[in-house]
Amino acid sequence: ACRGNTGWKPAWRKASPAASYDFVIVGGGGHGLATAYYLARRYGGKRIAVVEKGWIGGGNVGRNTTIVRSNYLLHGNVPFYETGMKLWEGLEQDINYNAMVSQRGVLNLFHNDAQKAAYIRRGNSMRLHGVDADLLDADAVRAKLPFLNFDDARFPIRGGLLQARGGTVRHDAVAWGYARAADRLGVDIIENCEVTGIRIEQGRATGVETSRGFIGAGKVGLACAGNSSRVASMAGLRLPIESHVLQAFVTEGLKPFIDCVVTFGAGHFYISQSDKGGLVFGGDIDGYNSYAQRGNLPVVEDVCEGGMALMPRIGRVRLLRHWGGLMDMSMDGSPIIDRTPVDGLYLNAGWCYGGFKATPASGLCFAHLLARDEPHPDAVAYRMDRFARGAVIDEKGMGAQPN
Ligand code: FAD
Repeated sequence: ACRGNTGWKPAWRKASPAASYDFVIVGGGGHGLATAYYLARRYGGKRIAVVEKGWIGGGNVGRNTTIVRSNYLLHGNVPFYETGMKLWEGLEQDINYNAMVSQRGVLNLFHNDAQKAAYIRRGNSMRLHGVDADLLDADAVRAKLPFLNFDDARFPIRGGLLQARGGTVRHDAVAWGYARAADRLGVDIIENCEVTGIRIEQGRATGVETSRGFIGAGKVGLACAGNSSRVASMAGLRLPIESHVLQAFVTEGLKPFIDCVVTFGAGHFYISQSDKGGLVFGGDIDGYNSYAQRGNLPVVEDVCEGGMALMPRIGRVRLLRHWGGLMDMSMDGSPIIDRTPVDGLYLNAGWCYGGFKATPASGLCFAHLLARDEPHPDAVAYRMDRFARGAVIDEKGMGAQPN
């Protein structure tokens, strides 16, 4: 007789805070957990804690639309995201966890000659950086996705730029897999523990005040995504970041018919199909600043209009679920991985609506910075002073698009 699953152990310990650690990472999202993992695994870090105000996977790491890719244009971005792609490719072996990494391809559609020229330029830049890129004409797109609105559309589809190695990864499994792997290396993952203050003594961060008491730290790393500006303000820092909500949508399950990720080039809409059959899609951010993890109806309408324009058959499908997450929108659309003016306090933020794909590379580069006090070679462009120096990394919506 089936007696159910017995004797299963939790995937990670429910750690209680110790008095102090060498490293305290604030934020148990994908980036914080990956940082702790690589710090322990690759940089020999010891006595590491991840402090999370809610539960593991409750933030954006479990709310995104699961798309991973490295199809960027600018030099500051491409090597970093390609390092991330390579880490995704080996992730499941590395952390010994099934994250359903699916390299099903990411196809960005274009609808006019100017857009085509911009995509050719981006594809060339990718290839120069050793990243795969293929330009498809309209017939090739039609053969792949015959149900899209090609001809009687206001914005007819002329072709697309495909990154075949891009795709999707099951987002919760990324959080759980990194948490489990970090725990196995001795990292304390402390849930339900909100950081309420950063203690600074003689210009140096010495620990964090939390809802479960003070935790001393040799170094404090902030990886708080949509709450970055709030947490950094506890150390007197004002970040070049605004928080906005981004929503995601999932329909009822259908037979498989979309075998890649597709983005509409004439509006904010992108879509893929989950392995369960649901259509997973999204679009633009809500236009006002907010720290609430829920969105508003005008964006729902706007996203659905984009869907109808690209793929009219979507109008007959029932929407099952939608939710919102909190985006830390930086002023050039690119992230920050850097020291701060406070000694011993480090910042990982500004991922906007595209930080899921960055999870492994971000964790690796932040771990490098925390361990060695110097930027990882792939993240040198992500210093905060780029805004003062005018060295911004602005992909003009081409790379930092929502997904
Ligand atoms: P989070 O999981 O949000 O982690 C931050 C953690 O910090 C949270 O768990 C939070 O509770 C914790 N925290 C905050 N304040 C405190 C405090 N005071 N004390 C302790 N803990 C605190 N990116 C892509 O690349 N591809 C996509 O397809 C994609 N789609 C998206 C769709 C949606 C709807 C959303 C919302 C986001 C999407 N993103 C996507 C963006 C991506 O999810 C984020 O950029 C990324 O997950 C942010 O990093 P994180 O995982 O560490 O964030």
